[in-house]
Amino acid sequence: MRPEILFPLFAEVTTLKGVGAKVAPQIRKVAGPLVRDLLFLAPTGLIHRRATTADQAMEGEVAILDVVIDRHIRPHKIGAPWKVRASDPTGFVHLIWFRGGPHLERLVPSGERRVVSGKVEIFNNEIQILHPDVVKAEAAGDIPLAETVYPSTEGLARRIVRRLALEALKTAPDLPEWQDPAWIARKRWPGWRAALETLHNPQTEADLSPDAPPRLRLAYDELLAHQLALARRRQSRQTVSAPVITPGPASEQVLAALPFELTGAQKQAVVEIRADLASGEQMGRLLQGDVGSGKTAVAAIAMADAASSGRQSALMAPTEILARQHHQRLAPMLENAGVRAVLLTGRDTAAERRPKLAALASGEATVAIGTHALFQDAVQFHDLALAVIDEQHRFGVNERQRLQAKGRDGVHLLTMSATPIPRTLELTQYGDLDVSRLREKPPGRTPVTTAVLPLARIDEVANRLKAAVAEGAQAYWICPLVAESEAIDLAAAEARAVELRAHLGLNVGLAHGQMNGADRESVMTAFSEGHVPVLVATTVVEVGVDVPNATIMVIEHADRFGLAQLHQLRGRVGRGSKQSACILLYGDLGEVARERLDVLRRSEDGFEIAEEDFRLRGGGDPLGLKQSGFPAYRFADPMRHRDLILAASDDARLILHRDPDLTGERGRAVQVLESLFDWRADRPAAD
Ligand code: ADP
Ligand code: MG
Repeated sequence: MRPEILFPLFAEVTTLKGVGAKVAPQIRKVAGPLVRDLLFLAPTGLIHRRATTADQAMEGEVAILDVVIDRHIRPHKIGAPWKVRASDPTGFVHLIWFRGGPHLERLVPSGERRVVSGKVEIFNNEIQILHPDVVKAEAAGDIPLAETVYPSTEGLARRIVRRLALEALKTAPDLPEWQDPAWIARKRWPGWRAALETLHNPQTEADLSPDAPPRLRLAYDELLAHQLALARRRQSRQTVSAPVITPGPASEQVLAALPFELTGAQKQAVVEIRADLASGEQMGRLLQGDVGSGKTAVAAIAMADAASSGRQSALMAPTEILARQHHQRLAPMLENAGVRAVLLTGRDTAAERRPKLAALASGEATVAIGTHALFQDAVQFHDLALAVIDEQHRFGVNERQRLQAKGRDGVHLLTMSATPIPRTLELTQYGDLDVSRLREKPPGRTPVTTAVLPLARIDEVANRLKAAVAEGAQAYWICPLVAESEAIDLAAAEARAVELRAHLGLNVGLAHGQMNGADRESVMTAFSEGHVPVLVATTVVEVGVDVPNATIMVIEHADRFGLAQLHQLRGRVGRGSKQSACILLYGDLGEVARERLDVLRRSEDGFEIAEEDFRLRGGGDPLGLKQSGFPAYRFADPMRHRDLILAASDDARLILHRDPDLTGERGRAVQVLESLFDWRADRPAAD
């Protein structure tokens, strides 16, 4: 329930004076549909103006000139600007409009006085103003000397945005303080409304900085609101009862059947998961670990635990090939323990599928492994208690929920991610989940040697590849796909495959995202079975595919990939006991780009690489997370404000711990904050 005091802010922008049918859609585009969205629209700049005369005007400054219009010089050809000559007692100035028209004769009529403002340019030793931003008939004193610049859009004058933002500011009520007073005092942050006042009335460039106290205050408000929403979600999940699952004979047998000893990190993760499963509350846990860190074994044990307790579980993978691989590995181990595991994918024929569905519905099959096919309506479980999602970022929240909805009670959730992310991002993305991290790699792996080389040395690389392949090695060769010109990139990858085929005299496979699923899979399968020694691929075609014999990874234009992505790609080699190599070929490299690639040479720890990548890339969307449900903050920048994220997370948990229903004085204020940002309603986080 939204508190009444916020109603004016949650009214449509059309309730503001001067927002008609024409402006409204433009405002919605720039800010959003609500008055609140205008209130939260941060200015991006500040224009300083100076009142001066034609002889004193300086190039580059934004001048205010008090002039008389001399005459109009119409364009002499299409595309030429409309010029207006104007003068003051000290000299003259040309006012220039591209795409000008006769309406200018009304705006600046010949013989009349006008006050104009705009950026001064010098052209042919004469001063001119291109597209004056203010033209007035009144006195110069009416033009503000400092003017706030807002984001805008085609056809929407910035000053309209400014006027409306200030209008929105007027409707902002004084609200009870939701922040801890001691914290605010220590930070020397203003109150909420005062912070917004300064936001919309910056006096200096420093006021525009994301580190200015009012902006930090607003960023912290936003982060706290988000962390609260996540913490509340976590809290409400813990009140959902879910089956009590404890290890039993099947768990023992699966553990015994694993051809290896669990690593310390795997054991720790199993302990954490078991505590959740036995709690009677619904588990929501993220298992993070690099490619190859052994997440599957951990999941297998959890599923065996469920089976031991007489419950069903499901393992969902994003692709057919991954689902098959999981099934191939896990089914024998599970069957050996008396647990039947069926594989469900989109490729099953109706006749193949029918008995599997029947077995799941009757409970005769205990484990379902599959792709998106798993959450389809036709799939019914007898008693689903645990859902495991592999490569969780490849699924939407919705898909995960549809699978979880197939249980009678709460269904425990274990999501797995092979994309280590910095702790701060973990909190913003998965603040409602508990996290287990696998930082340790299974033993017996030789580290991957990484080389960073210029593209110019590509022939040398191809020759070395030829020698290695002659000795039985397999290699991936990755060509980047840059969104703007997919066709060209694709052609480049195709050409590369042809060249390598000719150069190596060998079978070279090609896999890319534009191929149909079946073709792509047959190439991938041929590669994984060793029939094709070299595979050229455009992107991360199949994350998580395990081909232990592949020991060489060549990445062309490595500078075009994110570090996390490169690290993931590299993770596909070094999976067997043989020495592996990763060759990063770069095109043009700036200083930062070189430093970035160097991080990969130094480290094989995905968590460390993620932190470094985050640090080097600065703000914005360093890991391409926006597409994967990463929150779009208005004030907060996960990079710059990372300390605030950590603080907000602690703060949120503490607030809920002290006042779980938010009924105390601060609790009620905090509820207003929550409504103000409305994280629950409009932007669910990834899980
Ligand atoms: P992930 O899913 O985390 O990328 P996998 O579960 O596919 O990694 O494991 C990668 C490889 O490591 C598999 O071949 C698996 O059998 C092996 N493996 C897993 N855990 C261990 C371990 N504790 N000791 C040795 N090998 C392991
Ligand atoms: Mg995996």
